[in-house]
Amino acid sequence: MRSWEKNVRKVVPYVPGEQPREENVIKLNTNENPYPPAPGVKRALEQLRAENLKKYPDPTASELVGALARRYSVKPEQVFVGVGSDDVLAMAFLTFFNSEKPVLFPDITYSFYDVWAELFRIPYEQIPLNDRFQICPEQYFSADHPNGGVIFPNPNAPTGLELEPDAVERIVRENPDVVVIVDEAYVDFGAKSALPLVEKYDNLLVVQTFSKSRSLAGMRIGFAIGSEPLISCLNDVKYSFNSYTMSQAVIAAGTAAVEDEEYFQKTVRDVISTREWMKEQLRALGFVFDDSKANFIFASHPRVPARKLFEALRDAHIYVRYFDKPRIDNYLRISIGTREEMERLTEFLAEFLKDR
Ligand code: PMP
Repeated sequence: MRSWEKNVRKVVPYVPGEQPREENVIKLNTNENPYPPAPGVKRALEQLRAENLKKYPDPTASELVGALARRYSVKPEQVFVGVGSDDVLAMAFLTFFNSEKPVLFPDITYSFYDVWAELFRIPYEQIPLNDRFQICPEQYFSADHPNGGVIFPNPNAPTGLELEPDAVERIVRENPDVVVIVDEAYVDFGAKSALPLVEKYDNLLVVQTFSKSRSLAGMRIGFAIGSEPLISCLNDVKYSFNSYTMSQAVIAAGTAAVEDEEYFQKTVRDVISTREWMKEQLRALGFVFDDSKANFIFASHPRVPARKLFEALRDAHIYVRYFDKPRIDNYLRISIGTREEMERLTEFLAEFLKDR
């Protein structure tokens, strides 16, 4: 061991889904949107002037923040933006989870939460989902389970299951002394958002992303909406870390995306209808899964191990996500692509499963 190594912060990093280099693959492994961003995004990027890049961007990203505030009917002071929701969530962990009591989140959930907790040395406890992979709200109430904060995705990842609004509200209400973060990365694909609760509970932070429903994973934009005091605390931490998180290109592209409501509604509707069609196909092929409200389906097959399917699909240049983890190692998470991509997936599976 080199002498400096004892002072290194050692972490086991989050592993992002693979970005295959080969062309012509069917990529259903990172829950991207199969459609391009709104046409206005292209125009906004074309109008960027290289000579302006000599200047720093607006540190408050006020154009983007303003567009989001209008879209979600909140004040600009209630909106925080960051470099994808990963950045927003990391800042929120650093800002709000500064307690000696454990932060609570489900055992099966977005696998970045425990990584941030480890990185920031935040104590945490993973609360097991029930055997139908559902969140049990009572297990997150501070009276029975003293905690330093709560975070969960809704719909949950990688299960895609929605926790109904009443249960979300109970978790927020029963934790008045800590911040509750609802990670709504997939909410636009048919689940109900906790945003209406933000006016009622000043300890609720709702986090969303442009990566899925707004087709901008490559641009890296996420945001949080909450009470003014929460957002002000987040900004204090952000300005103590990196003031210029949003580039000129990001601000322009993000604003254009939010302003095209019609395109947003249309692409979301198309993804949902392909998902519902895909559910029928998977069911007919013998897969079992619950009712996903996200842009992916988390499914297993009673006869063929998920790992085997994952490898066979990969050999056929169809990428889905497989997690080699306890309780979920017999499931595939299949993102919803275009109808044509899902048809090709269905054809492959039908052929592969024929004699098994
Ligand atoms: N939350 C959840 C539950 C996710 O699945 C993802 C996507 N990996 C994110 C947050 C982060 O997405 P992004 O940083 O692209 O906004």
